[in-house]
Amino acid sequence: MPFSKLGLSDKVLAAVKAAGYPAPTPIQEQAIPYVLARRDVLGIAQTGTGKTAAFTLPMLTMLETGRARARMPRTLILEPTRELAAQVEESFVKYGAKQKLNVALIIGGVSFDDQDAKLTRGVDVLIATPGRLLDHFERGRLLLTGVELLVIDEADRMLDMGFIPDIERICKLVPFTRQTLFFTATMPPEIQRITGQFLHNPVQIEVARPATTVAAIAQHLVKSGSKPHEKRDVLRRLIRSSDNFKNAIIFCNRKTEVAQLHRSLLRHQFSAAALHGDLDQSARTAALDSFRKGEVKLLIASDVAARGLDIPDVSHVFNFDVPHHADDYVHRIGRTGRAGKSGTAITIASPIDSKSLAAIEKLIGQPIAWMGEPPRADDASDAPETVERPRGRQRERGAERGGSRGGGRGSARSQPKPAQRQAESPVARLDEARTRQPAKSPPPRQQPESQAESHLPAFLLRPTRVKA
Ligand code: AMP
Repeated sequence: MPFSKLGLSDKVLAAVKAAGYPAPTPIQEQAIPYVLARRDVLGIAQTGTGKTAAFTLPMLTMLETGRARARMPRTLILEPTRELAAQVEESFVKYGAKQKLNVALIIGGVSFDDQDAKLTRGVDVLIATPGRLLDHFERGRLLLTGVELLVIDEADRMLDMGFIPDIERICKLVPFTRQTLFFTATMPPEIQRITGQFLHNPVQIEVARPATTVAAIAQHLVKSGSKPHEKRDVLRRLIRSSDNFKNAIIFCNRKTEVAQLHRSLLRHQFSAAALHGDLDQSARTAALDSFRKGEVKLLIASDVAARGLDIPDVSHVFNFDVPHHADDYVHRIGRTGRAGKSGTAITIASPIDSKSLAAIEKLIGQPIAWMGEPPRADDASDAPETVERPRGRQRERGAERGGSRGGGRGSARSQPKPAQRQAESPVARLDEARTRQPAKSPPPRQQPESQAESHLPAFLLRPTRVKA
């Protein structure tokens, strides 16, 4: 179905044409008519599906009539991170160029006064992170009783970041009669509960995960010892030897590692910027801009900071750490191979990562090829038997929240205690010559059925080779 059949206004159709979109994506095609019909929508979709335009385009159409009043926004969009909020604001600028709408961004890390001045002038679209929004509300600078439409975006990530109580509070502050558009990539029970409570007879639209369909991403594993300096060695070799390398996003599990790896790469003369929640907003924006413009080739990021970012032309993703959550792997590799381009995702894996790798392979439904030889079964013999998710993770993620309120909303307290850190195994360093070899398809793996159940990756089941 063409855009012209969805019920969008002429001005919005002109903006879509100017953006060069040939046809609506599935989520746009399915959601836009219902949004325009003022129905609540539950969209199970993630970034890369075109979901931002699925709500911004009909909102722009609807906002063509009516006027904003001081301190009473007409529509409210909640985003988990400042960068996502800024990205949505850019969409309004791009698609709403022909309209005189007031769009305000209410995020942590920037001056209250400027935000306050904007609110006073009256806003049609308020895009906010939950913490900073509630700060303004509590100061009495904002009334939510005029909100006609509420968008809750990336709800499952809000859950990860501990935002759900804030979301529940905000839902109770906006009028019961508002329209609600709710987007989430997954439906854990807590999210199901919220949708039952705050959506009224919603139309449910589910679109495929982009990453499971992105055949354009070549995925590889590279073995390494588990010590940070061993992994840094491997990473540098990978960056220097990767084919078709243009630029890369490098993911770490913790923001402390992001900072450490950033310093190390700069010391080794790489062109690199870092993106994590402890940086102030101007540093985060500068890092992203310089990467987008190609001024720096490497962007080192944590999951939360990089979640949902739309950077169209990324040739490589490196997982410096294997993510503890298989879902994060899918989000990470989806930063490359976008917009019809091919991409490469390489994960540095040490023996202590075996459980996480097995979960990832189970989720994506395929084994990931090893570059060079896979680790031997005895590589893992010195590794700890079980690797627990660090208890500090939830709090560290919370520390990257968009809000800037005090009272434990992110501080040095979120660092994991030494005892919680993963033990390091004395695995031998990766053989340099092996990593230089171009990636080869792995031999077909014979995966016994019991393997999936026990979450053991294939390399742990290989027979041990004993040197003569
Ligand atoms: P999103 O899932 O909202 O993060 O969108 C991902 C990317 O898809 C953005 O760069 C959009 O500019 C782009 N996009 C959105 N809608 C379309 C469309 N109908 N056709 C082509 N690209 C689109």
